[in-house]
Amino acid sequence: MGKIKILDEQLANQIAAGEVVERPAAVIKELVENAIDAGSTTIDITIEEGGLTLMRVVDNGYGIEASDILTAFQRHATSKISTSSDLFKIASLGFRGEALPSIAAVSRLSCTSADTDTGLARQIVIEGGNVTVNEPANAPQGTDMTVRDLFYNTPARLKYMKAIQTELGHISDYVNRIALAHPGVAFTFKHNGSTLLQTLGTGDRLQVIAAIYGTNTAKAMLAVEAESSDYELRGYISRPELTRANRNGITAIVNGRYIRSHAINQSLLQAYHTLLPINRFPLAVIELGMHPSLLDVNVHPSKMEVRFSKEAELRMLLEDAIRKVLGKQRYIPGPDAG
Ligand code: ADP
Ligand code: MG
Repeated sequence: MGKIKILDEQLANQIAAGEVVERPAAVIKELVENAIDAGSTTIDITIEEGGLTLMRVVDNGYGIEASDILTAFQRHATSKISTSSDLFKIASLGFRGEALPSIAAVSRLSCTSADTDTGLARQIVIEGGNVTVNEPANAPQGTDMTVRDLFYNTPARLKYMKAIQTELGHISDYVNRIALAHPGVAFTFKHNGSTLLQTLGTGDRLQVIAAIYGTNTAKAMLAVEAESSDYELRGYISRPELTRANRNGITAIVNGRYIRSHAINQSLLQAYHTLLPINRFPLAVIELGMHPSLLDVNVHPSKMEVRFSKEAELRMLLEDAIRKVLGKQRYIPGPDAG
């Protein structure tokens, strides 16, 4: 007999979890993205102890059909793509079918969901990858994902977790940015009982900016809008006198996905050019829309990095639009935006 074997599913999921679930913020990201993909208009996020003991995401989306609920936790199970050509025009935030099985492999997870078609609810509980409860439930339309004791069965990863404040910081940062990306969704975010963010879901991005950065900052933002044959740009940038000590105030959103993009950051900074004092950075929310085929999001499991097929055109559009808006402003040195 040969020595090579295929790993059993539970072990495979645990290994994948090492990559997909780096820390509590990654769980929140995956659950919230699933809620958005399900067409939710309200998403309530509740965490305790920086997410280490509890993370709960409740949405009012289209739900998971009772007969699908176990399948949703199988590896490579997804309702979002089905053919390889779908992979080149991804319209949803998720598509890898890896998040739920990975999270369930390294936590105690409860999922209760009622779908729009049948209206019937079902609950399953999975502990370290083993299904312990699978029964009918009573619940409103939508999905409630509750994740407790993350990494309880992977002590090496648990030990690597930072202080509660650090984990909370990562989650909070993500929640703020996804709320900026989706002003049409009403988000609430609570940590240890206190509300850290509440958005109204009116679609007004400036309202979300005000909820996160304060009303004075929101008032000092300039609207940017432009389009080319391939790209649509919308967003807000700060007046040059409203600067920050680092780049963390820059949020880039591409087709509804919050991403990190060196190219977008560079274009933004280049457009401000000498308007910014040395080592100071603007506050900006840049949203780009494009045909999904112009974008490769399958770069890394976290999907935080993307590749643009026409990056030069994109950068030109961005730089021109921002220069135009800033050109209308006169530079007046002013207060710090912190
Ligand atoms: P992916 O998002 O890549 O498809 P996931 O493992 O995150 O993979 O989820 C698997 C499937 O479970 C999704 O394709 C979707 O059909 C379903 N699902 C997960 N979360 C939700 C939710 N909040 N509402 C509705 N369906 C969900
Ligand atoms: Mg997903």
